Amino acid sequence: MAPVDVQQYDYIVLGGGSGGSGSGRRAAGWYGAKTLIVESGRSGGTCVNVGCVPKKMTWNFATINEMLEVGKHYGYDIPEKVKFDYTHFKNTRDAVIKRLNGIYERNWGREGIDLVHGRARFVESKVIEVANEDGSVSRFTAPHILIATGGRPNVPKVPGAEHGITSDGFFELEELPPKVAVVGAGYIAVELAGVMNAADVETHMFIRGEHFLRKFDPMVQKTMTDRYDAAGVKLHRNHSGFKEVKLIRDGKGKDRLIKLISHDGSELEVNELLWAVGRAPEVEDLHIDIPGIKLNPSGHIVVDEYQNTSVEGVYAIGDVTGQAELTPVAIAAGRQLGNRIFGPPELKHSKISYENIPTVVFSHPEVGVVGLTEPEARQRYGDDKIKIYHTKFTAMFYDVLPAEEKPKNPTEMKIICAGPQEKVVGLHILGLGVGEMLQGFGVAVKMGATKQDFDSCVAIHPTSAEELVTLR
Ligand SMILES: Cc1cc2nc3c(=O)[nH]c(=O)nc-3n(C[C@H](O)[C@H](O)[C@H](O)COP(=O)(O)OP(=O)(O)OC[C@H]3O[C@@H](n4cnc5c(N)ncnc54)[C@H](O)[C@@H]3O)c2cc1C
Repeated sequence: MAPVDVQQYDYIVLGGGSGGSGSGRRAAGWYGAKTLIVESGRSGGTCVNVGCVPKKMTWNFATINEMLEVGKHYGYDIPEKVKFDYTHFKNTRDAVIKRLNGIYERNWGREGIDLVHGRARFVESKVIEVANEDGSVSRFTAPHILIATGGRPNVPKVPGAEHGITSDGFFELEELPPKVAVVGAGYIAVELAGVMNAADVETHMFIRGEHFLRKFDPMVQKTMTDRYDAAGVKLHRNHSGFKEVKLIRDGKGKDRLIKLISHDGSELEVNELLWAVGRAPEVEDLHIDIPGIKLNPSGHIVVDEYQNTSVEGVYAIGDVTGQAELTPVAIAAGRQLGNRIFGPPELKHSKISYENIPTVVFSHPEVGVVGLTEPEARQRYGDDKIKIYHTKFTAMFYDVLPAEEKPKNPTEMKIICAGPQEKVVGLHILGLGVGEMLQGFGVAVKMGATKQDFDSCVAIHPTSAEELVTLR
């Protein structure tokens, strides 16, 4: 075999998702580094193609159906069942994503970044090989190599598990199944179960404990699980797990039939099964044993606070490291890394702070969180140093609903303060519009605001957010 030429770059980025794109663009666009991105799938990665973007669009789609319900109580003449065309929505969503794929690639091109489509792997500690479509291979080298290959959804080891789909498959559905089982208790399970329930799908959720969102504050866990229950999601709490999954009838939508057999012997037939049982880092094909990059016990790449792996000149960011698996985190880490490697001397110590990262769950209603949960705050500061402010109410938007319907639409807020200054160390909010509400409060918490700072801000009336600056 003829020797393969090795092309030289300043920076090679493996994965053109949130983090890889953010880092590559900083290196090439700001500092002129000769940069290559290797991407094996669709440009933009998880967030654009099978994550944040299609998820939020689907949340918008389902939210309209919920609003129509409330609209009736405002006097709008809305039929009992409003028909919708999910296939139309799916095609529209796909077109938006395709446009975003193009925007990513055009941005890379404009900044002088080379793009190679294919699966990358290490063949030497600083040499990357990519298989081309014609069977040949290309090789690249650089003093700085970034691994930003993200993650992929897990499928449990249950006989017949392959008959189910994951979040990736959810975004391929051309029609909504009439009856679905969602397995999992994390934010992806809660978000996808929420949209399907709001879009009139009979939704069964299987969770191992009493509540879902187990990493969130107990207030969020309890209120949201109860709210899903009240909104018609069929919760299978303390579930024992599945013994077997059987495909009864292959097809799409209502024509597909799957039987779930649980360890406790109970059975359920559904039209679709969605596994949302966590994600695994995408490292398998990379041959990271060649440079000798260390993994932690969960299989994520071990990095220090500067995103250095155990091998000099090889870095990792984003989901593949398992650190706060969110798009803005991957982008920020990537940009800081670009600053550090290629920027001016004053940026040589650039790094991202992983403290107080605000995050929103696009459930129904939304949940917003920044800082510590109450148990975390009690453990860090001690019970006697913590003060909790809490409120629960029905947002004015729902005042038109019959009394018995109102509790199904809670707004709830908790501020956790620490020390004599009552520094705000945790903020947990759920309800209508909290996703947009959180970003500004996130700035305040990041700046080290105290309860007194919150109180000194004049309220905006009438809003739900004003409660956060008037809590007693
Ligand atoms: C359903 C869902 C909803 C989400 N919603 C949100 C949200 O609302 N907000 C939020 O902030 N985050 C959300 N996330 C998380 C967010 O998508 C990720 O945190 C983010 O995409 C991580 O970026 P990354 O750069 O680490 O990896 P990715 O964006 O996953 O990019 C990795 C890229 O590497 C490529 N790749 C993998 N292996 C190779 C290889 N060997 N060679 C070449 N290329 C390779 C992949 O094809 C992929 O394009 C969601 C995720 C999911 C699954």
